[in-house]
Amino acid sequence: MIRPAVVAHGGAGAGPERQVNVEEAVIRAADILKRGGSALEAAIEACVILEDDPVFNAGTGSVFRTDGSVLVDASIQTSDGRMGFVVAMKDTPNPIRIAADLLDEEINGLAGEGARIWADSKGFDKRKVVGRIPHEESTDTVGVIARDKDGLIVCATSTGGCSNRPPGRVGDVPLPGCGFWVQKEVGVGATGIGEAITRAMLSYRVADRICADIEIEEAIKSTLDEVIDDKSEVGVIALSLQGLGVGISNRNNMPWATWCAE
Ligand code: ASP
Repeated sequence: MIRPAVVAHGGAGAGPERQVNVEEAVIRAADILKRGGSALEAAIEACVILEDDPVFNAGTGSVFRTDGSVLVDASIQTSDGRMGFVVAMKDTPNPIRIAADLLDEEINGLAGEGARIWADSKGFDKRKVVGRIPHEESTDTVGVIARDKDGLIVCATSTGGCSNRPPGRVGDVPLPGCGFWVQKEVGVGATGIGEAITRAMLSYRVADRICADIEIEEAIKSTLDEVIDDKSEVGVIALSLQGLGVGISNRNNMPWATWCAE
């Protein structure tokens, strides 16, 4: 029997004061899974809680780009082979919903104005995202991985992008294998300096090690040690077909939480 579970993070550098906020998202996902809801619903709704919480650099709390604009990215992938991602969207408080809308479409991803045109045509919420001034290095993006009783694993991630990035910048969050990756038996999500994560194709690498029967903790730790430079703060969450999820960051400053049914 597969036990439903969830793991979520509030960003590689968000710190312990954000722990409670992350736990709220995990509780939401757990409630959905306990009543027999799908991993897809659980991952999306938990991600929306985090996007709506202004303390995180995602959705509502997204940080300004260097020109003062607020542009958001999000991605979602399922272990039954579906994927959706959006890049640099304007006026979109919940980009994860647009990414999820692409799961059953012919296309995987949409960027910028085209993504917003798509969202408008489907009636998704359009509102100015006020955003906030970034800290020196804002690495407080969000991510959730959920598993349901049927063994479906879903990873959802969302961000306003690292601080001090220009308006057209593409980070790791919407790039498959970089900020997220889901294979049949494992889901992985990354957070932190997106350029370092992308150069390392971090999430794919971690998933690959877990699928090669390396323990989750060891797979994350060894990959971070080997492929992430010392200057870049980076964290990873992962969930396989059994047990609780795991979260590890190279500076031990990532709030994360997990839950698994009895
Ligand atoms: N990885 C995100 C990005 O580079 C930022 C973060 O995780 O906080 O866009």
